[in-house]
Amino acid sequence: MTRMTRRELLQSALVATAATSIGSVAAGSGNAPHVAVVGAGAFGGWTALGLLRRGARVTLLDAWGAGNSLSSSGGETRVIRSLYGADAIYVDWVRRSFELWRDAETEFDTRLYQRTGALWMFQGDAAYAKSSIPHVRAGGLVVDQIPVSTAMERFPQVAFDGVQHVYWEPEAGYLLARHACLEVTRALAGAGAEVRRARVAPGAIGADGMDPLDLGSGDRLHADAYVFACGPWLGSLFPDVIGERVRPTRQEIRYFGTPANDTRFGRDRMPVWVDFGERVHYGVPDGEGRGFKIADDTRGETVDPTSMDRVPRGEGLTRARSFLRRRFPALADAPLLEARVCQYENSPDGHFWIDRHPRAENAWIVGGGSGHGFKLAPALGEHVADAVLGRAEAEPFFRLDRLEDGSPGRSPRTQLQG
Ligand SMILES: Cc1cc2nc3c(=O)[nH]c(=O)nc-3n(C[C@H](O)[C@H](O)[C@H](O)COP(=O)(O)OP(=O)(O)OC[C@H]3O[C@@H](n4cnc5c(N)ncnc54)[C@H](O)[C@@H]3O)c2cc1C
Repeated sequence: MTRMTRRELLQSALVATAATSIGSVAAGSGNAPHVAVVGAGAFGGWTALGLLRRGARVTLLDAWGAGNSLSSSGGETRVIRSLYGADAIYVDWVRRSFELWRDAETEFDTRLYQRTGALWMFQGDAAYAKSSIPHVRAGGLVVDQIPVSTAMERFPQVAFDGVQHVYWEPEAGYLLARHACLEVTRALAGAGAEVRRARVAPGAIGADGMDPLDLGSGDRLHADAYVFACGPWLGSLFPDVIGERVRPTRQEIRYFGTPANDTRFGRDRMPVWVDFGERVHYGVPDGEGRGFKIADDTRGETVDPTSMDRVPRGEGLTRARSFLRRRFPALADAPLLEARVCQYENSPDGHFWIDRHPRAENAWIVGGGSGHGFKLAPALGEHVADAVLGRAEAEPFFRLDRLEDGSPGRSPRTQLQG
């Protein structure tokens, strides 16, 4: 089969009418193309949903299940915000993702997104915010610079020591990450997708593209197209195409207890916050009774996401406490409630990958979330679904070979991945 023939076959099998709600799709019927999505994290789950909504028959496979604790999507919360430096495409996708997160809340009848606003603090220059503002406003989103004195009045629980510029983003907030992954999978299964637990090995690649997937124990799965959304595992699945280009790094997150009867650090009074200093710290208010979350965005050491040591370390706690003491003095001695070790799935330039496998037209690689992908998964999912089903070209910005051919517009994202 030639490259074009395979693509044409898939397109001819495409169900033309996109459905507006997954409940209205009769998955698996007629000549619908069958797409297997490997990885039920944010990227794979929302891709599967996008495919199902466009009439494809979908099988979603994951080695440990949706939102599992090894995956990058498996945390309690993820920030959603639209300040994104100079990269306009992400701002477009944030705008679209806000819509899709809200639609999903209605459709799944559950809370996925908490609007708290975001408080942006810059101890040095605010170039990151300034370069983003034209894109944010063009997208109809709101972000305003506010005087530090106004921020001090509005948020007396924050000590603005050393802060020179403050920006306020009212629509921002946080997403219930692990819960959302489980809800997406539940919705998929309810609408007829097949959801399976299996550790998948890609099929061999020959002249006809990728062969059926190997599910272990001699089990094979044939589909018209395969999407690999395996986050930090993409390197081991595709050593020649991705290999060490994806760098999983060790990241620690901590939750601190807030004083009883003190509501200043709860989600009604405390927004999501980001602090650009020598290091970038960010956090989420106490929302679901889990505590006040604080994370250091600095990349940790390179790790293996399957076998890494997930025991939090003392030096990280010392740094977190010293930051709390300075920025949130009332929490200086707050008890540590919980700590988690997760991994970012960094691409070399911090941008995603959405592309066909270079030697297999029927296989797609989707990943490189680089510590900032969760919020964008809904927009990414519909984009990938359109590309896989031949309805639209994949966005060239996310090409796999961008780092080899010196394509323009690839400024590495050096600041803030969350
Ligand atoms: C500590 C931390 C904080 C973050 N904060 C933010 C934030 O505030 N805002 C934000 O937008 N983003 C944030 N991110 C980034 C975001 O969470 C990730 O970019 C996103 O979750 C990546 O999703 P993914 O689906 O690509 O990968 P994953 O979630 O890792 O999913 C990959 C899936 O593939 C499965 N898998 C792997 N190999 C196989 C195989 N062989 N067979 C079958 N299944 C397989 C795994 O089990 C896993 O479920 C953060 C990440 C971390 C770690």
